[in-house]
Amino acid sequence: MSGILIFAETDDGTILPNFWEQVSAARQVADPLGGGLRVAVQGSQIKDASDALKSGAEQVYVTNDARLGEPWSEAHLETFTALCRELQPELIILPRTLLGMEIAARLAQRLDAGLAQDVMTMQLAEGKLTVTRPVFGGAASATLRLTRPPWIIVPRTGAFAPAEPLSTPKGELVARQANLVDDALKTRRISRTRQTSKINLERARVIISGGRGLGGPEPFQLLHEIAERMGAVVGASRPPCDSGWVDSGMQVGLTGKTVSPEVYIAVGISGATQHMTGCSSSRVIVAINQDPDAPIFRMATYGVVGDWKQVLPGFCEALA
Ligand SMILES: Cc1cc2nc3c(=O)[nH]c(=O)nc-3n(C[C@H](O)[C@H](O)[C@H](O)COP(=O)(O)OP(=O)(O)OC[C@H]3O[C@@H](n4cnc5c(N)ncnc54)[C@H](O)[C@@H]3O)c2cc1C
Repeated sequence: MSGILIFAETDDGTILPNFWEQVSAARQVADPLGGGLRVAVQGSQIKDASDALKSGAEQVYVTNDARLGEPWSEAHLETFTALCRELQPELIILPRTLLGMEIAARLAQRLDAGLAQDVMTMQLAEGKLTVTRPVFGGAASATLRLTRPPWIIVPRTGAFAPAEPLSTPKGELVARQANLVDDALKTRRISRTRQTSKINLERARVIISGGRGLGGPEPFQLLHEIAERMGAVVGASRPPCDSGWVDSGMQVGLTGKTVSPEVYIAVGISGATQHMTGCSSSRVIVAINQDPDAPIFRMATYGVVGDWKQVLPGFCEALA
């Protein structure tokens, strides 16, 4: 067993930007680990596989197959497991996406490997990998030691600053076949509907999120006005999404997006663990809530105790 293997997820044939965060995590332990870096790019009509060489990878394994054009975990898992068994990497790094997290868990079972999801820091010493990850919605962090390789990790979004691409990559592209036997796959992809919204919460530097305390869909218009003035993106807790007030792609939290902006403004959000787990790595959290005992004030950097109807209009004016 040797080296590091990164799973580079693609969408529409393009490698997702969080690939560079995976590379950054890999570089932290590449020297003490040795054995070099390799990357697996799986997708359909892949356009930018050669960009992955700029990670410093010695080989980028490219598997182009129509069945890999979708986040169909079964097909990706089969293909990636075969590569892992062949290359025998010590450390495998997957992205923190729904597909990446699912493959990570199932791959760990297949390879009898230790797995750490949501990794914030990594350290390699005396042949053991020590990682930290948030627990209790980010209110605390846990330190885990993964004893024997292979190790599988999923870096937390925003925990590793994106790595700088190399200007003169030296590695090679290696084309691979998916070798998928349709009948052996336990699930079938019937169809996929793309969300029409272009919300990119994960990349936003400032987010203003609304919760159930807003009382309905209309107040989100005010959040959008403020967001426009601040160059922010609007997010939400789960109740506004479940109630259909806003697009479900705006949800932050355990079953929504994990974000780590410079500033996260939470309006009418109580601060439930399942919400905070998605935003606790924000640099600054500002909470606006009328209940002085709301749990969010325990994690907020700045808190405003008050009715948003009174607080937000002045805030909006101040930004004009
Ligand atoms: C398995 C599971 C997964 C989940 N995943 C998620 C997830 O991904 N994201 C998520 O957000 N939740 C998730 N939840 C739900 C979570 O537990 C909470 O129920 C939810 O986050 C609460 O949303 P909220 O804070 O908007 O609403 P509430 O908890 O109802 O809080 C509303 C807040 O608004 C304040 N308020 C009311 N009126 C005003 C006003 N006029 N001015 C100022 N403040 C006001 C209140 O004081 C209150 O604190 C999940 C739950 C489970 C069980």
